[in-house]
This record gives sequence, C-alpha cells and structure tokens, in this order.
Amino acid sequence: MCGIFAYTGKKKNSAKLVIEGLKRLEYRGYDSWGIAYKSGKDIHIHKEVGKIGEFKIEGSKFDPSNIAIGETQDTQVAIGHSRWATHGGVNEKNAHPHFTEDKDIVLVHNGILENYKELKTYLQKRGHKFISKTDTEVIAHLIEEHAQNHNFEEAARLAMQEMEGRYAIVVINKQNNQIVAARKGSPLIIGVGEKEFYIASDIPAFLPYTNKVIYLDDYQIANINEGKIKFYDTQKREEVEKRIIEIDWDEESAEKGEFPHFMIKEIMEQKDSLSRAINQDPSIIEKVAKEIRSAGSIYLTGCGTAGKVAMVAQYLFGEVSKLQSHFYFGSEFLSQAGFLNKKSIVIAISQSGETADTMEALEMAKEKGAKIVSIVNVENSSMARISDFVIPIKAGPEKAVASTKATSSQLAILTLLAYAMDGGIIIGKQLLINTTSQINDMVNPRYEDHIMKIAKKIKDIESMYIIGRGKNYPIALESAIKLQEVSYIHAEGFAGGELKHGPIALISQGTPVIALVSNDQHKKDILSNSIEIKSRGGFIIGIAPENDEAFDFWIRVPDTGETSPIVNIIPVQILAYQLAVLRKNNPDMPRNLAKSVTVK
Ligand code: GLU
Repeated sequence: MCGIFAYTGKKKNSAKLVIEGLKRLEYRGYDSWGIAYKSGKDIHIHKEVGKIGEFKIEGSKFDPSNIAIGETQDTQVAIGHSRWATHGGVNEKNAHPHFTEDKDIVLVHNGILENYKELKTYLQKRGHKFISKTDTEVIAHLIEEHAQNHNFEEAARLAMQEMEGRYAIVVINKQNNQIVAARKGSPLIIGVGEKEFYIASDIPAFLPYTNKVIYLDDYQIANINEGKIKFYDTQKREEVEKRIIEIDWDEESAEKGEFPHFMIKEIMEQKDSLSRAINQDPSIIEKVAKEIRSAGSIYLTGCGTAGKVAMVAQYLFGEVSKLQSHFYFGSEFLSQAGFLNKKSIVIAISQSGETADTMEALEMAKEKGAKIVSIVNVENSSMARISDFVIPIKAGPEKAVASTKATSSQLAILTLLAYAMDGGIIIGKQLLINTTSQINDMVNPRYEDHIMKIAKKIKDIESMYIIGRGKNYPIALESAIKLQEVSYIHAEGFAGGELKHGPIALISQGTPVIALVSNDQHKKDILSNSIEIKSRGGFIIGIAPENDEAFDFWIRVPDTGETSPIVNIIPVQILAYQLAVLRKNNPDMPRNLAKSVTVK
C-alpha cells in the first residue's frame, strides 16, 4: 500500500531514477503519484493522478529524462511517492510530496497520522496555511514549526514525538542536501550503494542497484548527509548502529520474464516456491511445534487470504494434531484480548509481514505476554522482528496484488507444522513432496487451456458461488476473494452444508457454482450439495480428483489427501486470472486494492 522511493548520491538525474523506482513499486497499488527533486537551491515538485505507466511526456511540461540537475548539483536528492488515498480525495493537490510555503520542507508519507485534526488546528492557529485535505500535509508543517528553533533532523525528531498512528516518512528541505527518513509501523528500507542511498517501501524497488539493505525499525530516524548515514532511536533517545544485511533475492525473480503478468508467473512458479518452503531447515518448524504443543491456548490470525490460510490451519491442527485453536481476523483480534495470557501462543500469517491489523493484534498479544510465531514471506519484516519465532515461507518476491504462490507456501508450512505437532514432520514432508510433484500436471499451458474453456463461458456472469466442506470451506472463501480481487465478479464462498440455510435462494438457471471436492470424509456430502444446486438450475464446476454426474464441467486435480487445499486453490487462481484478462482488468494491479495493507 503506497510506495516510497528516495535517492541521494552521485547518480545523474535522480528524478528519472525515482520514477523508475516507483514503477517497481506499482504492484503495491496506488491512485496517484508524485516526485520532488532538488535542483540548485530549489525543490521542484511534479504530481499526477493515475498510473505512472500512463503518464505521457508529450504535452506535459515535465520530462524526467531532460532534468539536467546533475549539472548544477553534485549530490542528487529526490523523493517520490505513489499514493493510496486515505485522507482526502484522489487529486493532484492531495497527491504527495506535500510541502510548506516556499517548499522549505517537502515530504512523502505512508500511513495515517491519527491525530492530524488536533495538530492541524494548532498549526492553523500558529499561522500555517494548508492547501490539501490530507493528514500528510500536517506533518510537513509540524516539522517546519519545530525547524524555527531546531536543526532539520531535530525538527523531524520532535515532530515524530507528537505524531500518533502508523507511518513511514521521507523528508527533504531547502537549506541543505539532507534526507531524513523515519518509521513507526509502516515499512521503510534503506538500500546502501557506493556513497549513495536508496530509501523505499520494499526491496525490489532498488534491487537493480544494490542488495545491501538496512531495515529501519519503529521509532528510528535515518539521517543521510553528504554520503554518510546516521541512525537515531527516538525511544532510547540516542544514536544507534544498524547492521547492513545482504539479501539474496535476485533481480530476475522480481521481474515478469516472458509472462504477460506477475499473477500468472507467480501461479506457474508454485512448484518451485512450494519446494523451497518444504525443503527448508525443519528444526525451526519442530521447535515451533513443541512450543505450540505446550501452550495453554493457541490462536491463529491473519487478514484476507492469509486469514483464510489461518482458518485452514485451524482444521489441520484439529484433524492432524488433535489440538484446539482459535482463529480471528487481525482486525477482530482486539475483542479477544481478555483471553490472552503468558501461556498463550499466537500464530500470525502474512505475506508481507507488514499487515497493519495483524501487526496490531501481535503488539497487543505481546503486551499480554503471549508468545508470537509469524509465518511470513518477507523475512525481516516488522512482524518477523517482533516475533519469538519466525518461519519463512521462502516464496520469493510476490508482486501481483492477489496472492497465489505465497498462499500455497503458507498452506504447506502449516501442514508441516500440523504434522510436526503430531510427531511426524517426515510424514508431512513426504506428503508435500508428493503434492508438489503432482502440481506439475496443473501449472502448464494444457491445464490453462482447459480452464480457459470455462472462463470464456462464464466471463459475463454477474455472480458466482463456491462451496467446500472441512478444510476446503476456507478454500471456498479464499476462492471467492481471488475471483473478487481480479475479475470483479460478485463471488461468495459457503460451507457446503450452509447452503440450504439461505444462500441456495440465490441459485437460478445457469448460476455458476464451483464445488471443491476431495477424497475425504466430506466427499459424499459435498457432491450431494452439488446435486441440490444443480437441481435448481445451478451450473456446477467441479474441482475434484474424479469426475462426477453432479458436474457440468470438471477440472481435474491430483488426489493428494490432506493437502487438498493446496491443489484445489490452484485452478481457481488460474480461472480468476483468466477472467480478469478476458474482462480487460489488470490482474496485477486490481482497482482499489493494495498489496501490502499497511493502514488499518
Ligand atoms: N494518509 C496519506 C494520504 O491519504 C498517505 C496515504 C498512503 O499511504 O499512500 O495521503
């Protein structure tokens, strides 16, 4: 959600560099963008509504490739932002960077300044004039207010002490070539080059230039000045040393390659990503399994797709490990605070490890003394850093907004965990190795062609439903999310047995219903549910190891037993992608959505 990219160093034309960086963050979702760059003593700002890729240089006074700021200035300074509006409509004025009068202070911001109203009223009384409707502009003025009596970094520090909410900010000023970056709750990562620095919301933004990174922690400020960087911790009130970490994501895995979209590339990559998840060092999973076993109470949490994965885990823990656990969405977790104590363990699932609602749930759990396990893709993410145990899913960069390969890898890790808790991680691993080898039959053009037949048939429908039972009930919910996210078709998932208690009234002639079937104790019942729907005119798309008379269209999946959630979601991912393309939607950047949901 929102992209920040900033650069300072000797590379010429930092404006262009920042725009390229913002492009690599496009997957995060945004509605407008803007940049600010220093040229001589002045700061120039340019903002646009819409996508960076749609920006046409012809007819615009702004041509980033012609900005010869390298000739007037040795140290280049530029910041950029892609905005996912929270406060104030989507228009040029509200787009970032925001600035004070005479552009003395210019900044980009991710997150929400929760006490912006009080601060704005105070600042207005002090004579500050505002031109946008955003919470962000207040921060620029707050820093300016403090800058009257303090140096630039100190002013940012003091402003931070008054700011409530979750945020990441990058600020520049007219007086000198410093860049100040600060974070509390929203991601901000520094890329370290040769006497140059990149600051971004995510690593792939600067990966073509450097793989040396520094993760800024909450309440920390980075001050970059004349090729040097210093860190200050506003809680400890002292300078801190930070470690440079070399990361091994190669640039290629963050690119589309020969695929038209990241979403299909990531779907097709699932054999490899699953293998990486399964073949990692088992000791951490075994250690976590022991901790869960000895916990007084077990909680699972996550949001969106990760939430559905957590629900599957609840079934796996019950069936495989014979353990009771409780699932709540990150945003609903607060209501359960009363039950948490030192004996509780909370397992959080998140691709980015930055999901604001899940983070808040974990912070609260930590306060109550509960142990925290996070299952994340981004290994040094905020969630990982506040957890007692981290299990990485090793899916590699996932760029499409709609999660696919991270979902299956999360499911794989939770399956391993469930078996490890039953004392049999080897059995779980064997099962997953077998599943992964059979996925070969699904991630190929022939399989895609088969699904395309049904995609073409249903592409213009208004509503569709998905049913499943047991572990495949949360997968029905996840299927609905996938279809909603990229096809924009109204899709809803139900527990097969719940249908006749209401939703069956929605079925009319030709209504498509996907039935998720596996060879388990629910098979007979879910097939009966399918027949009930078919008898009322529903068009049944069966995702199952074997064909059945209940199906109008059959999509074969391998028979993998306990791992059926993994194999059953893949054809739905492919269908959702194909529907998006057929309906001329951008599957990688669906409307209104963001990849890493860093606001509440
Ligand atoms: N709250 C800010 C705004 O609406 C920042 C949003 C973002 O993170 O993109 O402008």
